[in-house]
Order: sequence, then structure tokens, then C-alpha cells
Amino acid sequence: MNAHLSLTESAEFVKGNLSLPIARSYFEHIRACCRCWESISAFFPETPFGKVTSSPPKLWWATIAVDIELGIIVSATEIWAVTMSRTELERLVKLCPVECQQVEESHLPAIGQKASAACREYLATGSPLSTLPLSLSLVKSWFQRQVLFWTALIPYGETATYGEIASWLNKPGAARAVGGAQHANPLPLFIPCHRVVGRGGALVGFGGGVALKRKLLEIESKYLQFNI
Ligand SMILES: [Zn+2]
Repeated sequence: MNAHLSLTESAEFVKGNLSLPIARSYFEHIRACCRCWESISAFFPETPFGKVTSSPPKLWWATIAVDIELGIIVSATEIWAVTMSRTELERLVKLCPVECQQVEESHLPAIGQKASAACREYLATGSPLSTLPLSLSLVKSWFQRQVLFWTALIPYGETATYGEIASWLNKPGAARAVGGAQHANPLPLFIPCHRVVGRGGALVGFGGGVALKRKLLEIESKYLQFNI
């Protein structure tokens, strides 16, 4: 795709409303086009990444039985966090602004059960995670929110570098800070920080470990081979 994206096309891309082949062809253009990445950035304030929302009355957390140690924090309507270690789960539960109650996975609100089923399916088959409502309430830094906004836009099966994300934020040279922001991503898998790699494709810095990052990229490329 060579032409610049129209406003409507940019909006559809940001909302994640496009089929994967179209999203990928738009992304190939956007990543190299300063004019288009600026028009995409303009949508940031209208997305959950760019908004501060009021606290819900209550949150719940549970661990999910899969072959990696997954934890999840949800409100009645949004996913607040997905964690890949006990330490990270405990850290984020402490950051919650309201009571966060531990429950069995089967007692999570419906959104939590949907999310855990989606994670289980994704880890087993590579089936893309459905678009579920995410809350960025545990992310206080606007820089980190912007990094995660762009990370969420990397289509399934694609990768981008820390340096590219820094350029899209008009902060070339901030690649290291982008890496730090990725590392503190409270919503891995849903915000696919595993698709962000070092220069030359190096698999560095992933909360769940580099082996898991490699595994996730492999299941995505395998899934694409057989399904798209
Ligand atoms: Zn363009």
C-alpha cells in the first residue's frame, strides 16, 4: 500500500476494526511514513490509553491455570492487568485504587472469564485474542501510555523495534525508555509487547522471559501460516 491513509482509514486502524491482511498492509505503510504516524498519534486522546477514568467500586484477581503462571485483575467491565509472575501480580494488586478481592478463576466476573478463556486459547493455538475492553488505570505515566498505545497497534504476527516506537512518538533516541515502558506493561498478551524487539530482531527484555517471548512470536507465525 503506497497512498497515505485517509482519516477514516486511520480511525478504523486505531479501533482495530480491520481484517488482519488490511491492518498489516496499513501498518507497513504507517511505520515508514511520518505523515501517517502523526495522524495515528492524533487519535491517542480518544482511546482508553489517553483517558483517565474514574475508579470502579471493586476489582477481583485470580490465577489462571495454564502452562505459564498467569494472573489476572479485572473490574466488572474491564481487564486491568495480566501478569506472568507472582511478584508482578502482587505488585499490581497493591497498586489497585480500590479493594481487589482474590477469587477462583470460575468466580471472576464474565469479562475475566472471557479474558482467561481467550488467553488459554491463544497460548494453545495462537488464535488471536479478541478485542476486550482494557483499563490503563494502573499506568500513571503518559509516556508509558503512549508507548503502549503504539504497541497495541502492532498487528498480529508483525514486529516493530523499540527505536521505531520512539520515532512514532517523535522521540527518536528514546528507544531505551521505550524498552522500560514495555517492561512495565500491565497488560501483556493483550498489549503485545512481545512484538517489540531490539534492533535486528533481538529478543530482549520481556516480563515473562525471553523464552516465552520467542514462543509467542512462534505461535503467531505458525498460526498465520495455517489460518490466514
Ligand atoms: Zn502516509
